[in-house]
Amino acid sequence: MKSYRKELWFTTKTRRAFINITAQVEECLRESGVKEGLLLCNPMHITASVFINDNESGLHRDFERFLERLAPEKPYDQYDHNGFEDNADAHLKRTIMGREVVVAITDGKLDFGTWEQIFYGEFDGKRAKRVLVKIIGE
Ligand code: ZN
Repeated sequence: MKSYRKELWFTTKTRRAFINITAQVEECLRESGVKEGLLLCNPMHITASVFINDNESGLHRDFERFLERLAPEKPYDQYDHNGFEDNADAHLKRTIMGREVVVAITDGKLDFGTWEQIFYGEFDGKRAKRVLVKIIGE
């Protein structure tokens, strides 16, 4: 069985951002040489998500509004977590959007449905953060 591991780094200019990382993940898959197996992708941080959805900018604005309704960034003092930090909303948003994705690898490709793309969801950005890509198979 082959095993592959890589860290991708992201630094967003804004506190929150959605980045389509599908091409970078596919590059990892090519590097791995795995043709049949599983790919795991997750942020190595508890204020960011990796999720699969549609690459459509309107939907991404809808996500932003949806998350802000559920866990608004401000006022910061509405959250018990915000003492030394101001990122309670980011922890909550990440929990809603999920930690990781697992994608089947078939015939050397990510075995996606028609509209599936992989996104990095940043909720407390403006600093360097890592995403892990782990691939196992043969
Ligand atoms: Zn925190």
